Amino acid sequence: MLNPLRRFRAVRPVPGPPPPDGEVLLDARGLTKSYAGADGELPVLAGVDLRVRAGEIVAVLGRSGSGKSTLLRCLAGLIAPSSGTVSYRGAPLTGANQGTAMVFQTFALLPWLTVQQNVELGLEARGISARRRTEAARQAIDLIGLDGFESAYPKELSGGMRQRVGFARALVVEPDVLLMDEPFSALDVLTAENLRGELLELWESGLFPTRAIVLVTHNIEEAVLLADRIVVLGARPGTIHTTFEAGLERPRDRQSAAFAGLTDRVYRTMTGRTGGAEAARPGLAGTPLPEAGVDGLAGLADLLAHRGGGCELVELAEDLGLELDGLLPLADALELLGLAEAGETDLVLTGLGTAFAEADVRGAKRIFAEAVREVPLVRLIITSLQENPGGTVRAAALTELLGRHYTSEQVVRQLETATDWGRYAELFAYDADRRAYRLEERGLSAP
Ligand code: ADP
Ligand code: MG
Repeated sequence: MLNPLRRFRAVRPVPGPPPPDGEVLLDARGLTKSYAGADGELPVLAGVDLRVRAGEIVAVLGRSGSGKSTLLRCLAGLIAPSSGTVSYRGAPLTGANQGTAMVFQTFALLPWLTVQQNVELGLEARGISARRRTEAARQAIDLIGLDGFESAYPKELSGGMRQRVGFARALVVEPDVLLMDEPFSALDVLTAENLRGELLELWESGLFPTRAIVLVTHNIEEAVLLADRIVVLGARPGTIHTTFEAGLERPRDRQSAAFAGLTDRVYRTMTGRTGGAEAARPGLAGTPLPEAGVDGLAGLADLLAHRGGGCELVELAEDLGLELDGLLPLADALELLGLAEAGETDLVLTGLGTAFAEADVRGAKRIFAEAVREVPLVRLIITSLQENPGGTVRAAALTELLGRHYTSEQVVRQLETATDWGRYAELFAYDADRRAYRLEERGLSAP
């Protein structure tokens, strides 16, 4: 697909020759970013130090909500840090980072523009003349395997082809650093694999108009496949938890012991319960409630029961064709409810969890209700309702309360989880139209 015969003609945004291998291109120091909550600032990144050098691919791994996209936007100069600095080739950023370009998970193409016009956009913003824009866009389109699609509109293209446009639009400005925010995760498995392969081929070919790549992903295997260095973000507030030097030859052999070994070490870091007691016992201001619906966690409990009560999470994810990232909130939820216990890499049902998995619907609901009552947010809803018999509790009041400790997105997600759990357990009812809770009259727990 890629065309190695045509060398990219420079429209380098930064004058002078491309930086040599090893030069520090991006340098984040003490990077902190907070978003406004109702009662002050809520930290998302807290003191991140990260250096990206010419010649390397750095993967930033972390669970959903760990601040990966925020970090990337800070590196791109699209948002300003709350404190700390980001420098590009030694100069602290004061606005958009001219040495970078971004590829987004959702492609972010303008539907009313053709492929050619979409690719030219980035150049227009940088004040390049129309003639040079056309020529540079043609080359980028060629390079990325979009030849023949110049006048197509995004809606005529498959997801894979749309993301090629995303790549071409970023590469056309010849950024020193290509920033990619989960660029393959909206694509089907085969398309993603194909694009990853082509990206690597380009990177290795020396034709790539880019000197370094920062890849944000939640896919461990993708990180091990592509990166020279893997940086794992911890959650709440985001700090760098661990850094791995890949030290693997290219092309990388997924079947090799070294590949499997590194994947395994990264998995252990990602699944390890590093928060200890705090992670297991979230209060109203602690670790946010996991985004886990009742159906999902009951399904996971069933699967564990079928596997003799426990298994390795990685294997389970693989067998189900799921990403580990999707499984972790469910595992967290089972652990939080006392239905399972997590080891370093495996998850084992507790006695209560086994009973939950084996019970009939009524029995399962009863067990779930007892467990869920202990969750601070659910307990808060119940006690507020009990203090106000016959009355209701407005979701808005809870939103305001939670807003003191969490970002608005986290507030919404946690309320969804608590509502789902409490309704299933028949502890309370929720009126979505009036956005209010009331006690369930004929609840399971009623005498
Ligand atoms: P990731 O990309 O790792 O999933 P993000 O950087 O998107 O994580 O978000 C980290 C946390 O910051 C999340 O809890 C998210 O809700 C919150 N957040 C992200 N962007 C904003 C914003 N613009 N305003 C408020 N909160 C935000
Ligand atoms: Mg993100």
